Amino acid sequence: CGIVGYIGQNDTTDVLLNGLEKLEYRGYDSAGIALLTDKGLELTKVKGRIAALRESVDTSIRANMGIGHTRWATHGVPSEENAHPHQSASGRFTLVHNGVIENYLDLKKEFLADVDFVSETDTEIIVQLIERLHGKYEDTVEAFRQTMKLLKGSYAIAMIDAEDPETFYVSKNKSPLLVGLGDKFNVVASDSMATLKLTDQYLEIEDKEIVLVNHKEVEIQKLDGQVVERTPFTAEIDA
Ligand code: GLU
Repeated sequence: CGIVGYIGQNDTTDVLLNGLEKLEYRGYDSAGIALLTDKGLELTKVKGRIAALRESVDTSIRANMGIGHTRWATHGVPSEENAHPHQSASGRFTLVHNGVIENYLDLKKEFLADVDFVSETDTEIIVQLIERLHGKYEDTVEAFRQTMKLLKGSYAIAMIDAEDPETFYVSKNKSPLLVGLGDKFNVVASDSMATLKLTDQYLEIEDKEIVLVNHKEVEIQKLDGQVVERTPFTAEIDA
């Protein structure tokens, strides 16, 4: 299981597929990527290896932002429906997740009893909840933050809001996640192995921080909204 996210001007599809291949050692049974293009969100998911995903993806798609996932199923069988990325009911929010949400059934009962779920995953609860809370707060950062406050368990998350092509939304708790800093692009990954060809400058993310990533800047916030400064470290390149 691993995640990769990218925003910038390079070839997003290649960056995601190459990164996911480097993360396959963490375990896999299915994989998927979401690409945000001028025409909307393109979602590709397969059961099996990244090689199968590579064959299914339309490589002519040009996108400046995308997220990708290799899954190691914990809730729901390995299948195309259960593969990530998962989407909210309206299709506006799209998300990848590593880890296990321990209170997903409680959250489903309390907030999402009327929602038709597409998958059997704990992950889909997260993205449906973000959409539900977006209806309440009318602000993506706030909906994301309030959802993270409600989650119990382990997670590394990257999310796209299709109405905001400039930002992706990231958080973690007890699952690994790093932000890689580039010139006119930024990346996130479970492991710097996935992105060492792109950059050796990384930011450590602490548990329960919210990270807003655009192609120039990375803003790290505590759960209460306080912005924190972090000094990048240099990753050793011997891959
Ligand atoms: N719990 C999630 C699922 O079963 C994520 C698994 C993973 O970390 O790959 O889909």
